[in-house]
Amino acid sequence: MGQEFNSRNIPLPIQREVRQRCGFGCVICGMPLYEYEHMEEWAEVKRHVADEITLLCDQHHREKTGGLLPKQVVREANANPFNHRKGASKPYNLYFSGKTAEINIGGNSFTCEDRGYGTAMVPISVDGTPLIGLIIADDHLLLNLVIFDEFNAPVLHIKNNQLFYSTDPWDIQLVGTKLTIREAHRKILVEIDFQPPDKVVINRGRFLRNGVEILVRPTNILLTNGGGVFSGCHSHNCYGGLIIGHHETPIGGFMALPNVPRYLGDRTEALKFERELMAEIEANK
Ligand SMILES: [Zn+2]
Repeated sequence: MGQEFNSRNIPLPIQREVRQRCGFGCVICGMPLYEYEHMEEWAEVKRHVADEITLLCDQHHREKTGGLLPKQVVREANANPFNHRKGASKPYNLYFSGKTAEINIGGNSFTCEDRGYGTAMVPISVDGTPLIGLIIADDHLLLNLVIFDEFNAPVLHIKNNQLFYSTDPWDIQLVGTKLTIREAHRKILVEIDFQPPDKVVINRGRFLRNGVEILVRPTNILLTNGGGVFSGCHSHNCYGGLIIGHHETPIGGFMALPNVPRYLGDRTEALKFERELMAEIEANK
């Protein structure tokens, strides 16, 4: 087969059409992180037609696969998506409006002007891989996130709000405007607070890539390689935040570090970070 053809490779213009039609969220509950679901069985149709594809969040997708959520209910919701229903509350919608977007990571902020459809912001990037990216599209934010494990393998990928897992189960929660992502055994956590219409705050996270470890806490960022702590930095219109390592196309940022040691520093801070997270998770149970 010359062309890789599977249910996940939906052409971008079709994805955009489906997002707009479904109101940028799961048609059942409105959750803005979702999977594209072929309403006709993929094995039978083997084609990507916008009208035949809907959006379901992880939970509702699993319920449909497990037979708990009847196809008919999905079809009805698709015809009348949650986020388009009159009077429905929309606590989840990652809406964007305004001239300038701001991203705050661990007490460091960067702002950039909305340059129209496809305006991209890269809060954290290592060696040309954006670990977090945000795109402004059709007055909504599209989140891009890749989480790598200690072995440098990608374990979770969110691509323009579409979820891809290579391991499960993940624990992904969106309560109000706060998105938390945990690996089941709770080692990795990302906490993102969407503050519509124009601000996103990344309060916590552990980002690993190519021997670089970045710990984000509410008031600072710790680069455990070499022990750099960043707090209170600000930049405007450079489209990047913390930019580490070599990038073919340079990205400006509030902190651009082309050369960092690739051995991890003192483990004390990283272990303390994990203990703090565990205590917090226990306290929030
Ligand atoms: Zn849902």
